[in-house]
Amino acid sequence: MKLMEYEAKEILRKYGIPAPSGVVIRSPDQVPECDKVAGDRLVLKAQVEVGGRGKAGGVLIGGRSEVPALARALFSRDIKGVPVREVLVEEWLPITHEYYLSMTIDRSSKKVLILFAEAGGVEIEELVRTSPEALRRMRISPLVHELPLFMVRALVGSAPAEIGPVIRKLYRVFLEKDALLAEINPLVTTEQGLYAADAKLVVDDNALRRQGISANRDLTDKERVAASYGFSYVELDGTIGVIGNGAGLTMATLDLIEFYKGKAANFLDVGGGADQERVMHAVRLVAGVPSVRVIVVNILGGITRCDEVARGIVNAGISQKVIVRLAGIHEAEGRAILAGQGYRMLDTMDEVVKAAVEAAS
Ligand code: GDP
Ligand code: MN
Repeated sequence: MKLMEYEAKEILRKYGIPAPSGVVIRSPDQVPECDKVAGDRLVLKAQVEVGGRGKAGGVLIGGRSEVPALARALFSRDIKGVPVREVLVEEWLPITHEYYLSMTIDRSSKKVLILFAEAGGVEIEELVRTSPEALRRMRISPLVHELPLFMVRALVGSAPAEIGPVIRKLYRVFLEKDALLAEINPLVTTEQGLYAADAKLVVDDNALRRQGISANRDLTDKERVAASYGFSYVELDGTIGVIGNGAGLTMATLDLIEFYKGKAANFLDVGGGADQERVMHAVRLVAGVPSVRVIVVNILGGITRCDEVARGIVNAGISQKVIVRLAGIHEAEGRAILAGQGYRMLDTMDEVVKAAVEAAS
């Protein structure tokens, strides 16, 4: 899970890495909160989980009187397609130099890969392309809990020596937060000292429980409901609802919809052995999306019983059309239940998808 910049900076501060002071606002109405931030100039930063915000117009700098207008501009923007819901407003730093520092897992050597460059900021990718030697690299086993000084020195080179302790502290953050990525770009010098002007921290999803982070926190309301039933559910932006059992079958259904030039509204895998109750909730969940015109239910009964699926569909009592393909265990009973209620059933996946694309258009 990728943490927001302000969350990452909060963690860095706890480990003794200075970050500029700031507040998070969630709408332009909260601009008065910015009075708590020091200085005449402020930096407004869209809190979105995409990189390269600066170049995409997600970082705005201005005087205090300009903040309301800048905040309105930022909240009305999409940064690389991601809407801006939170803005970090920080004191502006008089930067004298920008450095690059990052730590990742190098899977081939099973070590932590530490990168440092004496030039950082938004042009780092360009620098790596044109002069790869500018990026210093060190690999270290994560079993070593303190970064040895010889490695720190080799990384820092002729850059200011006070960067050394920042590298050691970030290494502790990396290990203790179960990170897959810890990055400070730019790490900046000012007359007042060093600061993490930006921060990225990606926590291994397998460690969320240990780190006390809710795995559901980035979900939409519908995705949260889906998670509570244990469905694998992803929202898409089409008109055809999709329910399948098994990730492969459900993915194949999406592929076929695409093939017939339809647009799926979602991916929903009810999982193996779903009973009528689960199927009912799945159908209601998908039908609850306003853009859904028709729903495809594609079930291959192995441990899932087709009669249970049929009862779930009927009990959901939704208004949209449901087109069903049932095959496998208790298929005859399932078909009889649906036929009795006037549902449309087709024998193959190809046929149900074709029919759904037609019905949706
Ligand atoms: P990113 O584009 O998503 O990596 O966003 P950053 O937070 O790294 O900001 C992009 C760039 O804006 C930085 O590389 C800096 O050059 C500039 N910037 C950000 N904050 C400040 C600041 O407080 N003072 C100055 N002078 N520049 C800043
Ligand atoms: Mn950055």
